[in-house]
Amino acid sequence: MLKRIIKTSVGSFIAATGLDRRSFGAPRLIVLMYHRVLPFDEIAKPTVQPGMAISTAAFKSQLEALRKHHELVHLSDWMTQAQSGAPLPKSAIAVTFDDGWADNYQHAYPLLARYQVPATLFLATDYISTNDWFWPERLARVIAKGWPDMRRHPAFTWIEKLLPPDADSGRLSRTDIHCMISAAKSHGDTELRRRIELAERTAGIGRPQTRALLTWDETRNMTTSGLVELGSHTRTHQRLDATLSHSSLEHEVVGSSNQIVKETGVKPVLFCYPNGNRSDDAEAVVRRHYSGACTTVRGCNTRNTDPFRIARIGIHQGMGTSTALFRFHLSCLNRQESVRE
Ligand SMILES: [Zn+2]
Repeated sequence: MLKRIIKTSVGSFIAATGLDRRSFGAPRLIVLMYHRVLPFDEIAKPTVQPGMAISTAAFKSQLEALRKHHELVHLSDWMTQAQSGAPLPKSAIAVTFDDGWADNYQHAYPLLARYQVPATLFLATDYISTNDWFWPERLARVIAKGWPDMRRHPAFTWIEKLLPPDADSGRLSRTDIHCMISAAKSHGDTELRRRIELAERTAGIGRPQTRALLTWDETRNMTTSGLVELGSHTRTHQRLDATLSHSSLEHEVVGSSNQIVKETGVKPVLFCYPNGNRSDDAEAVVRRHYSGACTTVRGCNTRNTDPFRIARIGIHQGMGTSTALFRFHLSCLNRQESVRE
């Protein structure tokens, strides 16, 4: 709470002085990382991870502030200019969205269009135009629906082990579920999908039926406006760590690009590492097939930033939604923190 009060005060000072849009050294680029934009009453659902969503109202006021005070660019345009040695705006901002959530079209895109804010959407391409959910949301759903009745069942033993030590195991909070998702990351993605599938079957709740991700038609509607560009986020949102074989890396990194070309006719030039995981081999494959890549490392970028290690600033409801706080985050004053979302 104290931290937030300090940040808000600094943010108000920044807003009054315009410090967030001044650059005292080399031209800089701030890349904002969004995931989901949802009506306020949908954000608190157990299947919406804290740290992944912002309300439509907060997003709208952020776009208003961005449009009023900043030079808004497509990430790929800024990178092309940076690499060619062309002059750069003193303080540019690029908006990005990870994963390809359906709400990006339903709630974010109308606002992007209204304020003419360019954006880059990173798609986990196997999920587009399907009813599949990513494993963290499936796990959250299994826990929310199967708890506490199923917790002693063998198919739930591994889930029981994810419980935070201070949780009330009879009644889990949304924060507990989020902690359990973080703890589950010690298992590999394929193993997690297998275990969750078994838990879903055992609990008789089946796989999710409602569509959570975009369709290709929605995606094309956004790109034809010229306001939205697409990037790759692998095919299955696979974390690209050192356990992955070379053929799996190629499948995820090159396969997703091929799917975007097949569906839209445009080859993506940008990549984004799921969960921020990036082995040396993965980075080598990405460097061969793209012009740049986004990480989840928090920070600002300059012309000298490695284009395959673009830093970003994650924005979500939990950070607070006042314009002062937002402008505090844009000032890059707390750039040392790193995030993995
Ligand atoms: Zn992602």
